[in-house]
Parts: sequence; structure tokens; C-alpha cells
Amino acid sequence: MSAPHQLSFIARSTISCCLLLLSVSRLLATENNDTTAIIIAPAAPPAETIQIEEKSYQIPRPWVGNRISAPSLPMSAFKMIPVDHTRDSTHIYVVTETHRALVKLLEAAKEDGIVLRIESGYRSPGYQKKIFSRMLDEGRQFEDIIRYVAPPGYSEHALGTAVDFYPSNWEFARLPDYSWLQKHASQYGFTETYPEHNSKHYPWEAWHWTYHKETETAATKQPELEAAAPQG
Ligand SMILES: [Zn+2]
Repeated sequence: MSAPHQLSFIARSTISCCLLLLSVSRLLATENNDTTAIIIAPAAPPAETIQIEEKSYQIPRPWVGNRISAPSLPMSAFKMIPVDHTRDSTHIYVVTETHRALVKLLEAAKEDGIVLRIESGYRSPGYQKKIFSRMLDEGRQFEDIIRYVAPPGYSEHALGTAVDFYPSNWEFARLPDYSWLQKHASQYGFTETYPEHNSKHYPWEAWHWTYHKETETAATKQPELEAAAPQG
């Protein structure tokens, strides 16, 4: 279709859409009469798929293009979260540096009367896949599951720096636990990765927080109190 034909077609079908016509005209003007290059919508990110139980699923927005490259870490890189701070005393692990900051955060919250408990920490992509398999086996749809759970390969839990506080559901946002984290977690380097109304349109996960070393304040990076030199 030649440029005049395309323009008259657009004008006929979207007569009220002046902005669109304006942008197409601008494109035509800048394309040096090469009308084959007219683009009126941003290009979609390249398709990405994952395999679960020999079935292929296409990764939708907002996850597509945001695959996380998690390093393969030895067991020695992890430390167990104190069981009095985990749901049902479960053994939950995070990487060592995250552990140090997390324990300080948990203790500070406790001093303020908030007993935080962790429901999930490090999860390998293989484990994330198992979560999906189980939910699919229960009859849930892939499109439904990814509204609440990151697809395998796209979860921060594979980095060993993310934790889910208990309960990992919508109730959490209503608890004083969440308010406390909103006020104080940043001092310890923890950020709510998927806050309400986030710019990337990820589903809101009030319970999911991730440690970022660069945002931890100097005060909390100090060595443990018991290691400090005695005064006087
Ligand atoms: Zn999480």
C-alpha cells in the first residue's frame, strides 16, 4: 500500500484520532518517503517461553524480558534463618549477607513489638517449577498462577536475597508488620520489590522484600554489638 493510500485509509477509519495521524505524518516526513517503515506501536518484546512438564508456556507481560540470571551458589553461601522467625519453624535459607541484615531487621522489629516470621527464602528455579507443576496439577491455569507467583527463571527467590513474610497473601498488607517494614526495612537494605501501583505493572506483593546491599545504611552495617570493644 502506498503512503497516500495508507494515510487516506487511516483518515477514513480513525477520523477522530488526530494524534495518530499527526504521528504518522511525522514519521512519513522523517522517513524520506520510505513508507515501508511506518510504525505506529512500540515493538513487542521477543517471545519467551518456559517448559513445565513437557508443555511450553509463553511468558506474558510484565515478566517477559525480565528473566533473572541467578548464579549457581554452593551450600556454603547460605545461612539458615533462626527458626523462631520462620513459619512452623521451617528451615529457610538466604545468602550470608542477606542473613546478617535480615537478623538485624527481625531483632529491631521485635524490640518494637512486631514479631515477623518468614515463609519463604531461597528457592531454586527447579523448586519454582515444582510450585507451578503442583498448581497446574490442581487444575489451575498458567495465566492465573502467574498473577501471584513469578514464573520459574523470573523469581528473585533464586538469588537468595528475597524473603516472603508470613502470611504471603493479601492479608499481610493490612498487618502492623507491613507498616513496620514500610517505615524501617530500608535502613536494613530491604525493599518491597513489587509495591502497589508499581511502574512495571507487576502484581502487588506486600509480603515480598529483597535485600540490596547498596541501600543498607552504614549504621546497620556495623558489626554485631557483642563484638564491639568494651567501653571505659
Ligand atoms: Zn516472594
